[in-house]
Amino acid sequence: MDTAHPDPRQGNNLDPWYSQYAERTAGLTVSEVRALFAVASRPEVVSLAGGMPFVSALPQELLLNAVERTVRDHGAVALQYGSGQGSPRLREQILDVMALEGIRAGVDDVVVTTGSQHALELVSKLFLDPGDVVIAEGPSYVTALVVFRSFQAEVAHVEMDQLGLIPQSLRETIARLREQGRRIKFLYTIPSFQNPMGVTLTWERRMEVLEIARANDILVVEDNPYGLLYFDQAPPQAMRSVDEDGVIYLGTFSKTLAPGLRVGWAVAPHAIREKLILANEAAVLSPSSFSQMTVSEYLSTADWKGQIATFRDVYRDRRDAMLGALHEQLPTLRWTVPTGGFYIWLTLPDYLDSKAMLPRAVKELVAYTPGTAFYTDGGGRNAMRLSFCYPTPDFIREGIRRLAIVINSELSLLNEFAQTDPLTAQPELHEGVLPPNVG
Ligand code: PMP
Repeated sequence: MDTAHPDPRQGNNLDPWYSQYAERTAGLTVSEVRALFAVASRPEVVSLAGGMPFVSALPQELLLNAVERTVRDHGAVALQYGSGQGSPRLREQILDVMALEGIRAGVDDVVVTTGSQHALELVSKLFLDPGDVVIAEGPSYVTALVVFRSFQAEVAHVEMDQLGLIPQSLRETIARLREQGRRIKFLYTIPSFQNPMGVTLTWERRMEVLEIARANDILVVEDNPYGLLYFDQAPPQAMRSVDEDGVIYLGTFSKTLAPGLRVGWAVAPHAIREKLILANEAAVLSPSSFSQMTVSEYLSTADWKGQIATFRDVYRDRRDAMLGALHEQLPTLRWTVPTGGFYIWLTLPDYLDSKAMLPRAVKELVAYTPGTAFYTDGGGRNAMRLSFCYPTPDFIREGIRRLAIVINSELSLLNEFAQTDPLTAQPELHEGVLPPNVG
């Protein structure tokens, strides 16, 4: 075919190149809810959908100083290509950050990436062939699932409860996949303040999961963007702190500093790390020297631990506002009670469909992420992720009030059409205890 003048009949009406894409792009479809989110980003809509950190809580002056020093004092390095592994100075500082979660590593163990999202891409590129299987929590972080699928891997979900992924479900999933002759490449887990459920894997379960992974020769990818954003007490130490050979650990400055800098990192067993560096070079030559140096300057001059404590206060207030509003407005439903991070997982009565309900919610000027986004197998239909990270407490309360209007009108609509017993949301136990300062 003449590639300069493709025959549009071979593509679809909108994209003449349609038939030429690589097979791996099949998973890169535009989400059905994306158009709605464009509407949801209008200022009159309370968005409980995104996962945007509240960067306005950052000390602008300190960041300005960091940027200024980066250009003034280190311009020749900051504006130049750098090492494919990342700046040695920043890698040294990353060790201090990780030490807060019990991780002991050397400067050489760290590979700086363009956010942890890029580390997910690189790890997938190293390990995934078409037809391979990644085991992940169900539900799991939507854009990790997109990456795995873009390498034509399948995702097998493991069940969760309020203590994180259920080890027995992991055992059963592995056994089933092995029986089917499937190649399992790694377990992807977000043990602390999981995205999207907000729950945290207990220490006992962390040990059990590692034991299962070791016994089955399965690599663990531990994704930990939220671990330092706890509200009361720190979560259990990172899994990488007790297993240097079987865990690839991913960290990021996106939630404790700013996602716009796009600086994350991976810590991997020696041989994997060497390949990660090569993959990093192939993808971006070197992660942004400018961003790395700005982070370094910030870490060396600002009270970064104090800033993380400020973020904790901000997000704790917002979590409390959301929990309080849920208790007030939707007392018969069930939700998780996160002790850190950005997210609450709300479960609706099982005859409600959160995706079908979303246009009505947006009309009511509130948005959320439907549960199905976090599964590759159609799960999560009657659930939704609510983010409390970005809107102020007042907006959160208003958002939940609007959400309650939508859910309650769905329920009464269904009741009206119900032939037999009235449908009501069955009161269920909340998965956790209400913090004392929530009314
Ligand atoms: N992993 C998880 C679980 C996340 O929630 C996010 C951001 N939402 C990322 C990875 C990617 O973060 P970044 O690339 O900004 O480091």
